[in-house]
Amino acid sequence: MTLAGRGAVVTGGSRGIGLAVARALAEAGAAVVVAARAPDRLEAVARELCAAGRRAWAVPCDVADPEGVRTLAREAETRLGHVDILVNNAGISHSAPVQKTTLEEWNRILTVNATGPFLCTQAFLPGMLARGWGRVVNIASVAGLGGGKYIAAYSASKHAVVGFTRSVAAEVVGTGVTVNALCPGYVDTDMTRQSVSRIAAKTGMSAEDALRAALDTTGQRRLIPPEEVARAVLTLCHGAGSETNGEAVVIAEPGSRR
Ligand code: NDP
Repeated sequence: MTLAGRGAVVTGGSRGIGLAVARALAEAGAAVVVAARAPDRLEAVARELCAAGRRAWAVPCDVADPEGVRTLAREAETRLGHVDILVNNAGISHSAPVQKTTLEEWNRILTVNATGPFLCTQAFLPGMLARGWGRVVNIASVAGLGGGKYIAAYSASKHAVVGFTRSVAAEVVGTGVTVNALCPGYVDTDMTRQSVSRIAAKTGMSAEDALRAALDTTGQRRLIPPEEVARAVLTLCHGAGSETNGEAVVIAEPGSRR
């Protein structure tokens, strides 16, 4: 099984889940463009992958900015020749009671988490359809399938990603392109560490108790390693899951993917 000859774009590829996905795709043979806002970490990722003998480039981009996404599409096509795999992973978290969520915060979460995947998919889908092969993998969340206290904006943005995934999947049936979402529980990344720190600061709990309280909300005993999400991306790109289309695949507990 190889992705040799495939070009892949991973948004939010500078750390956390996106970094694990970029490493896994590159190791499977794909040429990879990583995109995120802060250029330093992004360039370090591209250097790391190139030093390991892979083909990788960094393209700074804010996925919430339509002009930035157009530039990403131009740069990625110049570097890769063609983009066959798009992993819409860039995202931000937010937690607050709904009454304390400002319109500005709501709009920012929805714009980065939901409009970002829309803009990137619009930019790369035409090339995939023209070539008759493509994989779009949207990193949603278990919060895209259910609700919880203090995550109204985040959960709404991830429900939007799941609905977007299912709808675009319906449009591409029979074209050789598939569009799927992955819905992880809590993953071991900076985003989770920040959420746990916020819970600890607001409640006075220890970091350990705050982590346990967070994990209880998703029924997890442990954090999911980002590499497990990356493996699920690979499965949707090739292998047994490669014909899967329009699914929202839950990754609820380390080793529990169904
Ligand atoms: P991190 O905060 O560790 O990394 C987020 C990545 O996205 C960084 O590379 C960041 O780089 C980039 N990013 C953020 N905003 C933008 C933007 N506007 N434009 C481009 N890039 C951006 O997050 P995770 O790895 O934990 O999360 C990745 C995805 O997985 C997110 O969509 C998240 O919602 C989802 N997810 C995470 C879970 C978790 O428990 N951690 C669980 C379920 C889903 P930079 O800041 O430089 O732009």
